[in-house]
Amino acid sequence: MELTWENVINEVLACRRCGLCQGRQNAVPGMGNQQAKILFVGEGPGAQEDAQGLPFVGPAGQLLDKMLAAIDLDRQHCYIANVVKCRPPRNRVPLPEEAQACLPFLRAQTALLRPKIIVALGSTAAKQILGEQIRITRDRGIWHERKGCFLIATYHPSYLLRDPAQKKDAWEDFKKIRDKIAELGLPTIKTDCGSESPKQGNTL
Ligand code: SF4
Repeated sequence: MELTWENVINEVLACRRCGLCQGRQNAVPGMGNQQAKILFVGEGPGAQEDAQGLPFVGPAGQLLDKMLAAIDLDRQHCYIANVVKCRPPRNRVPLPEEAQACLPFLRAQTALLRPKIIVALGSTAAKQILGEQIRITRDRGIWHERKGCFLIATYHPSYLLRDPAQKKDAWEDFKKIRDKIAELGLPTIKTDCGSESPKQGNTL
């Protein structure tokens, strides 16, 4: 099948490759700008994401939007996807076989986007993108480079809601992402407006 956004999204919506299809209301392919050069990857849909078919629309999504705004991004300046596209029961961590079954979709999305920056949000995404050896508390905030694409892991917004004390470290990671965006000259709300952003965030 030809690699197009339409084909990938349709395939996700109809997918029954793993057991997570049984409990879903909606598969959640991803959202954002399909021309964006920054890809954020989370773990999987939660209850509200499952209900709406959109990623990061619950409380964690609201925090993610705030984090994006703090570095002059919104959902039109990035693409947001998850490792698994269907909600695991009771929001448990996806099983390795579920992640493996779903990974071709994330690979296809990455091939279509050809991002310059990939941000893994949380341990599940970090292990899939950077390798099983990754420990999020130890390895977050460190840039890796693969074929001209810069990869970094930081905490998942859900974790930050459970443990707000970690927001300080997450903000340090987001400042690195902001700096890398500037270094690579990628578009942001600020550059698109051609002026200073009205409110420069300095915390999460
Ligand atoms: S989680 Fe992924 S592999 Fe499993 S059914 Fe959903 S789309 Fe298919």
